[in-house]
This record gives sequence, C-alpha cells and structure tokens, in this order.
Amino acid sequence: MELSDNISSLPGIGEKLTQAFANKNVLTIYDLLFYLPRRYEDYSNVSKISNLRPGLVTIKARILNISVRRARRGLLVTEAVASDSSGSVRVVWFNQPYRKTSIKADCDYYISGNFKLSNSQFSLINPSLEQATNEIESGPGIVPIYSESKSLGSWQVRKSIKAALPLAQKINEFLPSYILDNLGLIKISQAIPQVHFPENTKTLEVAKTRLKFDDLFPLLLANELNSLDRRSQKALIVNFNLDLARRFVDRLPFKLTNDQRMIIWQIYKDMQSDLPMNRLVEGDVGSGKTVVAVMAAVMALEEGYKVAFMAPTELLAKQHYETVFKLLKPLGMEESLFLLTGSLSLSQKRKVIDCANDKVNSFVVGTHSLLTSGVRWDNLALIIIDEQHRFGVDQRMELQRQTGHLPHFLSITATPIPRSLALTIFNDLDLSVLREMPANRRPVTTRLIPPSSNSIQMTELRNQLEMGRQIYVVCPHIHSQAEDDELAAEKVYQTYSKVFNDYSVGLLHGQMKSNQQDEVMKDFIDNKINLLVATTVIEVGVDVANASVMVIYGPDHFGLAQLHQLRGRVGRGNYDSYCYLMLSDSLVPNIRLRSFANIDNGFKLSELDLKLRGPGVIYGKLQHGKGFSRLLTLDDQNLIKMVKKGVKIFIDKGEKLLKYPELQSRVDEARRITYLN
Ligand code: ADP
Ligand code: MG
Repeated sequence: MELSDNISSLPGIGEKLTQAFANKNVLTIYDLLFYLPRRYEDYSNVSKISNLRPGLVTIKARILNISVRRARRGLLVTEAVASDSSGSVRVVWFNQPYRKTSIKADCDYYISGNFKLSNSQFSLINPSLEQATNEIESGPGIVPIYSESKSLGSWQVRKSIKAALPLAQKINEFLPSYILDNLGLIKISQAIPQVHFPENTKTLEVAKTRLKFDDLFPLLLANELNSLDRRSQKALIVNFNLDLARRFVDRLPFKLTNDQRMIIWQIYKDMQSDLPMNRLVEGDVGSGKTVVAVMAAVMALEEGYKVAFMAPTELLAKQHYETVFKLLKPLGMEESLFLLTGSLSLSQKRKVIDCANDKVNSFVVGTHSLLTSGVRWDNLALIIIDEQHRFGVDQRMELQRQTGHLPHFLSITATPIPRSLALTIFNDLDLSVLREMPANRRPVTTRLIPPSSNSIQMTELRNQLEMGRQIYVVCPHIHSQAEDDELAAEKVYQTYSKVFNDYSVGLLHGQMKSNQQDEVMKDFIDNKINLLVATTVIEVGVDVANASVMVIYGPDHFGLAQLHQLRGRVGRGNYDSYCYLMLSDSLVPNIRLRSFANIDNGFKLSELDLKLRGPGVIYGKLQHGKGFSRLLTLDDQNLIKMVKKGVKIFIDKGEKLLKYPELQSRVDEARRITYLN
C-alpha cells in the first residue's frame, strides 16, 4: 500500500466510511494521516459520581431522561441525568438540542466537563461526550477527539487511523535534517503517530510542535525570500512636493484625521526611496482610505509617472473613478484620470488606452485586468490595490518584466489583519492602521432577530422605506441549496417583493451578467430601487449614503470580518442606521454573533474571530495548497522564534530550495500570495 492509495484499500474502511471521509476532503491514506484531532480528552482519570468535586471532571455513566426546553432569550436548554453505580448527576447543555437525538440510552459514555452550581444544583455543564467503546477502554488515557458528523464518529476515525498508522513510516521528510537537529524537532513520520495516539502529554507536545512548525516554516521562509527579492529590485523615486500636498489638503471639504496625516507622511517617505514600497493601509469602513491613496497618487502624477488603481469589481472601479475624479478636479488634474473596464467596447478601450499612453502621467482606474490591458506601464510608479489581497509574485514578476522595475505597492483594505498575524506571517509588509474615524460618524445599531419577531421586523423596514431610506438584504446563497433553504437570494427576493409590492425591490448576485449587475447597482445608487436583495457582491466598497438598514440572513455563514464589512455598507449618511442579523430555528444566538452585536470595531472583531476560529479556519486555504493545520495559534512566541531561527539557518546556509522539492512546492505556494486571501 502507498500513501497515495485511496483509504478504501485499508482494512475496515468500506463504502460508507469512504464517503463519510470524502465529505471531509479525506481521500487518500495520506489525507487520513493528516486528519488531525480537534482536541484530546484525558480519560485516564475517571471519577465516581458520588466522589465528584467542583471543577473539571470525567465520569463514565449512562445518560437518561433527556429533555429540551426553551429558556429566556431563546436559549435552548438540554437536560439529562447521568448515572453510574455510585449515583446520579444532572447534566446540562446550552444550545445543543441535537444531544437529545444523538445519545443512546443503553450505552456508557465518558462525560467530561465542568462540575458546578447551576440553578442552585450541582451539575455538569456543557460536557463533551465520548461513547465508551472497547476501543478506548483498552487504549491509553489520552484520547483524540476528531471533528464529528452524523456519519462519522470519533471512534470511527480512530479506528481508521489506527489501520493507516503503519504507513506513517512512508511519509517523506521534507525538512533538511540539519534544521531538525538544530531545533530539536522530530521527524514528521514520528510526529504523526504521536499526534493521534500520544504516549503521554509530553510526547504529544513534541509532536504538535513539529506539525505547527510545518505550518509556519514555509510561510515565513516565503516571506523572507519575497523580502530579499523585493529589496533587490528598484522602484521609481517619487519626490515630495510640499506645495502640491498643501493645495490638495486645502481643497478638501473636510479636515484630515491625524491618522490620515501620519500615514500619508509615511507613504511619501516610502516613495522617495527606490526601494519598492510594500505597504498595507488598514482602516475600518469609512475611515477614509481612498483620500490617503489619492494623495499618494497625485505626488506620482506630478512627477510625470503613471498610477494604477485596481478594484476587485467593475462596479467598485467605477465608484472609485468618481471619487478620485472629485478629488483631482480642484487640482486641475482630472484630465489625467481614466477608467478602463471590461465592459467598454473595443474601440472605447482603444481610445482610453491611447489617451492614457499619450499622457505620461495617467491615473488609470480599473480591475486587475488593468495590467494586461495594453497600457504601457514603463513609467508606472505606484499601484493601489483595493480590497484585493492577492497580488502575487507572478504579477509582480510580469510587471518587472514589462517595465524593468517594480512599482511602489499600496494596498488598502477594510479587512483588518490581527496584529499577531501581521507580525508573523506578513512581516514583509509595512502596516499602517487608520484607527481614528472621521468625526460625525454614527454607530450602526446591531440586533439579533429571532424568528418569532419576523413580522415586527418587516414593520420596521417599512418605516424606514416610508422615511425615504433604502435597505440592503443580504443572503449567503443565490439559489436554494435544499428544499427548506430560506437563505437563498432568489427566494428572499420573492418574499420581499410580495411584502413590499408598493416599493421597488431589486435583486443582485454574482451570476448575473456584469452589465446587468451594474445596472441594478446604479438604480440602487440613484434610489430607483428601494430595497436590494443581494449576495455578498455588495460587500466591498459600495457607497450609498441613503441606505440605512442592512438585513443579513444566515449570519452564521459569514466570518466576523465579513459581517462587519456588510454592516459598514450602512451608516454612511446622516441617518440612524441598523444592522439586523436574522436568526432561524436552527440558529440560536452564539457568542460570535452576540459579540458582533456589541462590538463596533473591526480590529477587535478580527482578533476575536482569530481567537474563536483559529488561523486555520480564517486564513486556512492558501490558493490551492496546504493550509494551516488546526493546531496553529499565533500567540506561541516560542514557536515563532523557533521558526524564525529555522528560516535564518536555511537562508544562511545558502542552499538551493531545489534540493528539497516538497519544501519548495510549499514555499512556492506561499510565495505566490503576498498578502492575505
Ligand atoms: P473607506 O474607503 O476607508 O471606507 P472612504 O475613503 O471611502 O472610506 O471615505 C468615506 C467617506 O468619508 C468619503 O465620503 C470621504 O470623502 C469621507 N472622509 C474621508 N476622510 C474624512 C475626514 N478626515 N473627515 C471627514 N470625512 C472624511
Ligand atoms: Mg473605500
């Protein structure tokens, strides 16, 4: 047998299990061996119920009398009684109604959790459950717990991995042995068995360290190589012109915030050097990033250079074009501005390209096809990238090939990178953060709406429409995914069209033709559409000051950062604004959604998301390769130090990556992405 063989060639894995694993993207034996536990339970220390003391405990017992009831604020409480030969104890789960159907009456379970007072009664609160199969009883004290589904229990995963374990020997070591020796790391073929079936907590830690190292090492090495590369390239020098900066600021209809001033200053400093700038400006929606970017751009234009401004969609490109136009006009620089998008006819395109080429100092706004549009970029001094974190090494190399130099890179985003990530994984990036919001911004009131309040909700929406405001309604899907799927934009659109048949209701999603999308969006901007049902195509950048309500269906389908982006679409005018998260029967309010309602700061939310879901879930997928394992957290300073040391050892040794093909492919994967995805 080989690692690349399908798992069905292992003894004991039949069709059903193969399918269940396939649903988790586990196809080969290799995949299976790298299907890591979510956590571990230490069942070596089982208490008798009669001996329980408050604190974390494990008992082995049967579970009876399970009931579910709804308590205040929609909380679902599942209660049961656990009994062993010594006595009984109350068990309580909050918001886990599925417990009722998943627990078997005639089975012993290991039950682990906090034993404490609840409702003036000592109870086990939110314990984890593990069926006490023979498997565990004969096994060691530390038991791996895997991500479970109806068709795939932890015990089945354990059994399957046991069968695959002998093949762990065959896992190729992709790290040079001098790195392992120098840092005291064990081989990957040793780490895999220990991470599934650890001998003790110490061997488990050693194994986890190796796996976490593998998550970070290629990334940090890629970073270092990117950085070395960038430092070996040259950019055009953009001199600072005080008079121009003054004129720009004087003609603004508002005063810059201190953060804006500071960041522009940094950017001007960067651009005065021939070392290509690589700066990311993060700022919450509405914090005024565009002005900052345009101030950078005018300096390059004044110098006789080109500037490219790339937006993720045509619609945003158009909006940016209009914003930039307004900012350039008072300076008399608007004639340098061009909009180049795919929806232009060929002859229109030709005209724009010729014009842009004619004027040496053009400012061209478009999508990422800009760079291959036919504009000659030889005097490109600055690229501004909006909300598009993927500007990879490939594109940089293409520019370098076309022009013989690299432009300065300025990326602007409202998706905050938690500090911990920025400092470790993206350390080739200079980070500027706009923390200060322009004065007069109104916070958006956020509410969780239980299914029972749906009709009240509709009345509130109607009130807003009657006041002349506009409304966004966002859904996670376009089409219904299943019979009972109420989260599809098409379906929700039908509902809202009926309820608000005296208003104009629009539909917008990514499968519509792009000119159709533009039309709908334009109608919304012009207030010809009052209520817009959409998917997350409206997530980034769109600016309609008259919109005061954001309704989000299936909020659990979105990350906190994404929810925050959506919420940022409203509250951009002078009106009280609201964000409603629509709960469903199967979705009870959880800590994530509750925190979202209470926290109005994108940075705090991103840190929280990172903490709750881990980097693996948030930043897990590199373009098409290996992501982070679940194990990685970024608060482990010792690990980060160790990885940095490894990178230094490797680079100092001056070896060719080519010698280590597997490492090279991982590093290439990581290098292709300069920023987050
Ligand atoms: P972002 O791109 O960060 O979401 P924008 O740059 O689009 O934000 O700015 C949002 C709005 O705030 C724009 O209408 C802009 O003109 C305005 N604005 C920017 N900076 C300031 C400021 N310092 N004071 C007041 N309004 C500002
Ligand atoms: Mg913006």
